Amino acid sequence: MSEVRVRFAPSPTGPLHIGGVRTALFNYLFAKHHGGKFLLRIEDTDQNRYVPGAEDYIIESLKWLNILPDEGVGFGGTHASYRQSERKEIYAKYAQELIDSGSGYYAFDTAEELDKLRSEAESKGETFIYNSQNRNQLNNSLNLSKEEVQEKINAGVPYVIRFKIPENQTVLLDDLIRGKISIDSNTLDDKVLYKSDGMPTYHLANIVDDHLMEITHVIRGEEWLPSMALHELLYQAFGWTAPRFAHLPLILKPEGKGKLSKRDGDKHGFPVFPLEWMTAEGISKGYREEGYLSDAVVNMLALLGWNPGTEQEIFTMEEL
Ligand code: GLU
Repeated sequence: MSEVRVRFAPSPTGPLHIGGVRTALFNYLFAKHHGGKFLLRIEDTDQNRYVPGAEDYIIESLKWLNILPDEGVGFGGTHASYRQSERKEIYAKYAQELIDSGSGYYAFDTAEELDKLRSEAESKGETFIYNSQNRNQLNNSLNLSKEEVQEKINAGVPYVIRFKIPENQTVLLDDLIRGKISIDSNTLDDKVLYKSDGMPTYHLANIVDDHLMEITHVIRGEEWLPSMALHELLYQAFGWTAPRFAHLPLILKPEGKGKLSKRDGDKHGFPVFPLEWMTAEGISKGYREEGYLSDAVVNMLALLGWNPGTEQEIFTMEEL
């Protein structure tokens, strides 16, 4: 097997959530166990959700917890940048590649037009999906001549690039935790890959980077399981081999219902990282003041949903 390469790919949208720390820890331990590499990639393509300071905070948190990346933002490495906002040209090139191969297309529909279609479908008890069911009647390059498309683009009409989900395909998935899953491609949306602001969406940037950074295993929270079929199809469209996927169950509230959110942390005694700790001194200050030790946080997370089958309760990072 080639060298194991895994990544933690947080979006700097606020303080690092305890679930995110667990994802980072599992990735780190997996890499160490296999003598591989652990990368930190900052996924900051969504300008609307960007929170200044969050990136430093993530880096400082990982340092404090001793979950140290081998490569990535703040840690060096062979790629020119591990920060997605600095890799825009790369995504533009791959978006164009999808257009050229016919797997991607320009869509000019406005948000109002799409909202209208969604509410019309909803009033009939249906769900509007932008895919083979209706893409032929919508305002996109599949229904326009090359010249018409160029004219619109030249005239500055805003557009997005959508992925053309193949029709009538059973997408076979194999998750290392969830096992085999099959998805009917007709239930999937022609997701936007490239936005009108010239930025890629999460889906495009994420798979392009996982490919270029030679990621072998994608270990992430279960909230991304619904994206797995789309990602698999994107890998196929590019002619790339997909990495293995492992979707980790989420940390739930003690009642067992609902994902633990930033707001719930304090209430349940979980050491979440509140926004107030996003100071120049970073998370370690907040933790010190609250009396948490980084080794204790790591042990608590490691033993959540896993047990060694012995009575041992405290592990060093090496033992883990
Ligand atoms: N940027 C995504 C997040 O914030 C990454 C998900 C993934 O690991 O693919 O969770």
